[in-house]
Amino acid sequence: MDRWEDEALVLSTLDYGDADRLVTLLTRGRGKLTAFAAGARKSRRRFAGALEPGTLLRARLVERHGSTVRLDAVEVVHAFPHIREELPRIARALYALELCRELLRDEEPAPELLSLAVDWLGRLDAGEAGPTSVLAFELQALALAGLMPRFDACTLCGRPPGEAPRFDVDHGGAVCADCAPRATGPRIDPAVLEGLAAIQAGARQPLPPALRAEARGLLARFIEAQLGRRLKSVEFLRSVGVD
Ligand SMILES: [Zn+2]
Repeated sequence: MDRWEDEALVLSTLDYGDADRLVTLLTRGRGKLTAFAAGARKSRRRFAGALEPGTLLRARLVERHGSTVRLDAVEVVHAFPHIREELPRIARALYALELCRELLRDEEPAPELLSLAVDWLGRLDAGEAGPTSVLAFELQALALAGLMPRFDACTLCGRPPGEAPRFDVDHGGAVCADCAPRATGPRIDPAVLEGLAAIQAGARQPLPPALRAEARGLLARFIEAQLGRRLKSVEFLRSVGVD
């Protein structure tokens, strides 16, 4: 039997039976894993509401050979309470957590992604994470997962994307007008590519709302193509009017 303690961010939870809960965690040492929390919904004492998405924990985990990891005890390191006060913040947090969950394979350590997520939740909690920062978070998370879209050059010929570029999710980025016959994907405003390239390079100035909405749509298509499905929280973001 293996027992260990680790820092762990709750990515999602799933109720199991009538008393238990399955908790998907991003742990510092072992990456993403799903742990069984026995009695999590009955015993207030043991987990005391700590097993909510977006909570950073100090977790005691137990693994018997060949069986599911069990969550033995937890201590809340940070609950990011102000995120829960506003629907747009909740929507952005759930989106970021779902993106992390879907980008990760089980038990593959991803300490940089954990640090990125915790840092971003901290800024969201402090009211310092505006809409453009969601784009920045997505681009950084994609880069850490090895799925960085290319905006500053044509993915087929490497030249500048020019005045009439397209965005091709299959080729993973911008395509110039000369290469368009070999590509799929819609025409895109060059300013959107420039804005995204600047964010990728570290710029943090807010994008104008119209550009931001187009950039969001473009990244949503890219992420959907990479993962093979649409993230559920994208609809929630839209329904609360957050782009
Ligand atoms: Zn080209």
